[in-house]
Amino acid sequence: MQKIYTSIFLVFLAVSVIAQEKYPKNYFRKPLDIPLILAGTFGELRSNHFHSGIDIKTQKREGLPVFAAADGYISRIKIKLYGYGKALYITHPNGYTTVYAHLKKFAPKIEAFVKKQQYKKESYTIQLFPDKEFLKVKKGEIIAYSGNTGGSSAPHLHFEIRDTKTEKTINPLLFGIQVKDSIKPVISNAYLYSLDEQSQVNQSQIPVKLEITKQKNGNLKAAPIEAFGSIGVGIKAFDRLDGASNKNGLFNLDVYLNNQKIYNHCLETFSFWESKYINLLIDYPRYTAKRERVQRCFVVPNNKLSIYGDLVNSGEMYIQNGMQYTIKVVASDVAGNQTTLTIPVKGRIQEVKIKNVINKTDHFFKRDEFHKIIKDNVTVAFPKYSFYDDIYFSFKYDNGIVYLHDKSIPLNKPFTLSFDVSEYSLKEQEKLFIAKVSDKGKISYTNTKRKPNKLYTLSKFLGKYTLATDTDKPMIKPMNFKNGQWLTNKKRLKVYIKDDLTGIKSYRATIDGKWILMEYEPKTGLLFYDFNDKKFTTAKHTLKIVVKDQVKNTNTYIATFYRKK
Ligand SMILES: [Zn+2]
Repeated sequence: MQKIYTSIFLVFLAVSVIAQEKYPKNYFRKPLDIPLILAGTFGELRSNHFHSGIDIKTQKREGLPVFAAADGYISRIKIKLYGYGKALYITHPNGYTTVYAHLKKFAPKIEAFVKKQQYKKESYTIQLFPDKEFLKVKKGEIIAYSGNTGGSSAPHLHFEIRDTKTEKTINPLLFGIQVKDSIKPVISNAYLYSLDEQSQVNQSQIPVKLEITKQKNGNLKAAPIEAFGSIGVGIKAFDRLDGASNKNGLFNLDVYLNNQKIYNHCLETFSFWESKYINLLIDYPRYTAKRERVQRCFVVPNNKLSIYGDLVNSGEMYIQNGMQYTIKVVASDVAGNQTTLTIPVKGRIQEVKIKNVINKTDHFFKRDEFHKIIKDNVTVAFPKYSFYDDIYFSFKYDNGIVYLHDKSIPLNKPFTLSFDVSEYSLKEQEKLFIAKVSDKGKISYTNTKRKPNKLYTLSKFLGKYTLATDTDKPMIKPMNFKNGQWLTNKKRLKVYIKDDLTGIKSYRATIDGKWILMEYEPKTGLLFYDFNDKKFTTAKHTLKIVVKDQVKNTNTYIATFYRKK
């Protein structure tokens, strides 16, 4: 007996040591030398994706030094107009890669290397994969300065830790990087869903919002519910951290039915390819209608997320007539703070007063088949598995507007929408584009591709589309100089560019006929040129900037300036 206990103990010890070392603690230092206050947590629910790292606040400033989290080498440098903006990737010898994004600029040796490549390629946006031996860094070395570039709405540092081999991103807070959090998550709304035609919640087959009251201990209790059949629960929740008022995401979510765990998801790690399935985790129709993200604690078919743990019957609960149940939802943050919502449910078959009505249209789309609709000059084609589910699709083409069902259905793959434009002259065709039409009737450019007499676009968003025309040139406006000026004391040139309808497709700037690097920040519409880039040998110079919009309307700005040699 003693032997058995000893071996069980040893196995337990080995398992717990492995569990502890799953992610190395204290290997990575924090990437900024300030107390870490987060503007966003790992796995936070964003538009069509989970947040893949942590967003560290930089005291509303740009230009804070960013440090290498551990020894390694710069394996990737990326500059994009959107997304991560200026970003660095460091590969570490222990099998992890750290990512630093929305940077203002890189440390001098990296910056010099990047600039050389940008001048060689004549492009601001660039992606580089330096050699292993080329840009080695030491833990704590300054590698960059924090900023607000790309798809960032305020200055901060986006920081990620990825498994180098699988490229799966992992919650950085599991590596011992300390962030103060003594505040419990908040569950602000909860819904019960009836999941088939035989089910009901409070005599309804559409989602029922629960009445929640706060108990003395901070936990929540819902008013009693009467239900029958297959039901599921969904919550709207967020977590706050110490020192900031912004709402962050949860780490872990559990559901218990009569004290048996039936559902778990945990934002420990995920792959980038699975991020789109967030649209099956959340109640997507509610999100598109009300911008409210309700996390559904049941797994619908074709949801390939890997974040789920213990699941019983996919998190669906079967409520029997005459029985009494207690549903418990437990929301947790990484620090272990928890909030529990208790929902008492009585099993009762009643007359259903609010039915879930399915609008049976002429177009029944099976998800594993290809579907195509042609009307007049419009064709829309859905490849196999565009949809997550079979659907009665509604289609209308009226008064120049194509109605593709409605925006409440998320798609797994893009469809192709094409317009035959042979009735337009070639000159008119050049200025045509496919636009998305918002609820309020506002049009926005969609990435329009061209074939002879045909325009088409690929999109993952249902809703309204139309053809539109843009004949206006982009605007180019110098901000800190005028034509004919001496600019010897200027450190840089600043130019504002803008295109109202289709947006900027490209820009090209030269001085005396030679390409110059102008950094572009689409959020502000500003182009910057750094005079340190070039040594002038004469005084008089010509600056030329050519800006094109998405339908090739072109504007050219030319100015003469003088500068002491
Ligand atoms: Zn971020």
